[in-house]
Amino acid sequence: MAKIAFLGLGQMGTPMAGRLIHAGHELTVWDRTADHAKALAAEGAAVAGSPAEAGAGATFAITMLATPEALQEVVQGEHGLANALGAGQVYIDMSTVGPDTVRSIAAKLPEGVAVVDAPVRGSIDAASAGRLEVFVGATDEDFARVRPILESLGSVEHVGGLGAGAAMKLVANLALGASITAVGEALALGEALGLARVPVLNMLEGSQLAPVVRAKRANIESGHYPPAFKLRHAAKDLRLVVEAAASADRDVKVSAASRAWLASAARSGAADLDFSAVVATIVGEEPQP
Ligand code: NAP
Repeated sequence: MAKIAFLGLGQMGTPMAGRLIHAGHELTVWDRTADHAKALAAEGAAVAGSPAEAGAGATFAITMLATPEALQEVVQGEHGLANALGAGQVYIDMSTVGPDTVRSIAAKLPEGVAVVDAPVRGSIDAASAGRLEVFVGATDEDFARVRPILESLGSVEHVGGLGAGAAMKLVANLALGASITAVGEALALGEALGLARVPVLNMLEGSQLAPVVRAKRANIESGHYPPAFKLRHAAKDLRLVVEAAASADRDVKVSAASRAWLASAARSGAADLDFSAVVATIVGEEPQP
């Protein structure tokens, strides 16, 4: 069993850290908001006062943070995790931040620190049940070291070298953004053409959009969008998709449109609701928490 530092105890980080405790690992946790560590402390985690304190002496350090900016602050800021890491330790980032951020953070860490990116697909329920899909970017040697740890969280796939996991996650969320905004547009057009919502949703459940309709139909029909995956994070992900495509000289018109819808939903007050609240924005409704 390993000594693990876990930083970032939000909606995903808390159940993921809980899985690692239940798998028998020795956890030290840290969150910017001290209260967010309480539940894990009750389950036996030690609580650190700073990212550096959490990482000191850990064999593995894991981050699960909101954005590239948050990650940079926690790793490279004053009392940041980087101060505690040295040769022999393994650093795993599981946030959705894109490959450029992963590589730039790795380049600034002390020599000899193994760096792995391992972002996840699946939401809070999957995180609690150990059913996430984990996309890993790592050398073969580093993958072999992290695999037993990550397997407590779900199915683990080695998709390439450093940054490849982060790249795969952007591609996954390109699909997510396209499908949820297509559902919104399908409903908006159906209603404009005089169709009732229920038969349109029934038809969509048999369409190429079936998985997202099945997953989010209850939200759409009730008008209530409690956050499982916050819309602000989906908007951030589509921003990262569009930026990554621009630097790779690829034209992603569908993603640009998804990004615009998500940004517009965030501006109209839905940032902390579930990402599916973008459907309400598209059909012209006010989403409820
Ligand atoms: P969340 O509930 O919003 O938690 C975000 C975490 O980042 C919290 O620990 C928060 O600290 C921390 N944070 C934000 N800004 C910070 C800053 N400037 N400095 C330090 N810490 C900061 O988000 P989540 O749903 O757990 O998602 C975490 C990551 O996983 C995101 O990259 C998201 O895109 C990705 N993801 C989410 C899901 C999902 O379904 N929710 C699924 C797959 C991937 P506080 O506690 O102080 O706010």
